[in-house]
Amino acid sequence: MAIFLLIIAVAVIFVVGWSMWQSWQHTLQDTEKQARNQSVSLSRQAEDTFLQVQITLEDIVRHSDDIFDHPARYLGPQGLLGIQKSRLPQLHGLFVYDAQGNWLATSGRQMYPMANNADREYFIWHRTHNDARVHVGHVIRSRSTNDLIIPVSLRLNDDRGNFRGVVLGTIRVDFFRQFYGYYEMSPKDILGLTHLDATVMYVRPFPDTIINKSMSATPLYRSLLKASPQGGGTWRSPIDGIMRIFGYAQLESYPLVVAVGIDRDMLKSQWLKNNLAIICLNVLLLLTISLFGMLVLRQFRKTVEHRRELMQAQDELTRVNLTLQDLALVDGLTGLGNRRQFDIYLEQCLARSAVTGVPLSLIMCDIDFFKSYNDTFGHVAGDECLRRVADVLKYLPRRSTDVVARYGGEEFAMILPGTPGNEAEKVAERILQAIHNAALPHHASQLPDKIITLSAGISTAVAGDDVTTLKQAADAALYAAKRAGRDCIVNASTLGLRAAPQETE
Ligand code: GH3
Ligand code: MG
Ligand code: MG
Repeated sequence: MAIFLLIIAVAVIFVVGWSMWQSWQHTLQDTEKQARNQSVSLSRQAEDTFLQVQITLEDIVRHSDDIFDHPARYLGPQGLLGIQKSRLPQLHGLFVYDAQGNWLATSGRQMYPMANNADREYFIWHRTHNDARVHVGHVIRSRSTNDLIIPVSLRLNDDRGNFRGVVLGTIRVDFFRQFYGYYEMSPKDILGLTHLDATVMYVRPFPDTIINKSMSATPLYRSLLKASPQGGGTWRSPIDGIMRIFGYAQLESYPLVVAVGIDRDMLKSQWLKNNLAIICLNVLLLLTISLFGMLVLRQFRKTVEHRRELMQAQDELTRVNLTLQDLALVDGLTGLGNRRQFDIYLEQCLARSAVTGVPLSLIMCDIDFFKSYNDTFGHVAGDECLRRVADVLKYLPRRSTDVVARYGGEEFAMILPGTPGNEAEKVAERILQAIHNAALPHHASQLPDKIITLSAGISTAVAGDDVTTLKQAADAALYAAKRAGRDCIVNASTLGLRAAPQETE
């Protein structure tokens, strides 16, 4: 029963644990899928942002001859660059530099005549790379406004393909800050835009100090991006050591990557909160099963206990019954078999002897002058004397089938199956001798030794004898022994009056 209940409890724990585990795994999978989808949409948004700027820059490139001839037309917010810039909210500014890095035109309010951007990374890159493709640089601080900006630039060539200058559009990092700010997320979830070379452009919600740090140690740059331009995974952010579930997407046309990271601990606590009712219900179920099991077990134990008690009582009763049976067959005073036992056993032995033909002898003994013993010493001493005589008879060496019984009063009988008359005589002699040896004093005895003596009559069954005949013969022999002077043995066979009813005392 206990094992059965244990199995049920373990099964419940297993099933509940397994379904909880499944539910958590689904949550993780769903979250990663969500992060991947979100990163794809954010990569589209970034792609559009950069494409618009690229188109604008290409437009400016087409007008580059005019810009070099009439730079004033393009200057300032009202100039052509300013008008272009005002169309795109992500733009921080548009600039045209000549081959030496000098400012030729800007969408800004001010020109900085002494300023030179020849040291900027994008400028050096274009000067050294005859490449018509757009270049996206790392985040820098604007020299004109001190804003954080992402430089997007194109190379200007002269008719012969020589480097003529650079057209630059700068995108405000704040544009992404604002856009990413629209998303409702947990405080430690992140949205990030990084360069393909692992340099951070912007990561919400981290402070700007993270910008331009390298993320090359993350699984994203170590393996994932090399395997696939889109995907997901779970790893610990090197920035703050928090475990996040990530989705990422590389932009198709620009060397940029967007990543979305969901705080796993927060996700777990939300998941726990959502599943609290189910968990509580299951714990309750488990407790109920345990309680029920305990009750059933207790009841079961009680039943077993009751049954054991019942069996004990039954055993006790059987024992008492056996004792009673014993008592019914044993003489209370001497502990020898009683008259009942004598009758039963004699009957059985006689029946067996009639079948097998083996002889059966009976010795009847009677204490001599016992009445005067009682009269002299009193009945209590008389009883004690009976006990002593019985003890002598009890411990006489004899066959296991021989039985000594107290026939009644001071008379004892011995049933000797398988014993012929002459053998029985020897037994009787041993009895009388043993009593002599015991030398129990009897001053009132009329015999000279003044000790307790026995007289004995022997009869041996012959074919056709019944119990009464056998007993009467032994009795007659005993009577004869008394008459012969007591303390002697008479065998009924010597009397010649076997089977004749005799009056006994
Ligand atoms: P005899 O030699 O002829 O047998 O003489 P007796 O005195 O032994 O014979 P009798 O039959 O006259 O007396 C038997 C006495 O045994 C009578 C009674 O006082 C005594 N007696 C019988 N049963 C008991 C008993 O259980 N306890 C005691 N103390 N005495 C008993
Ligand atoms: Mg007697
Ligand atoms: Mg007597």
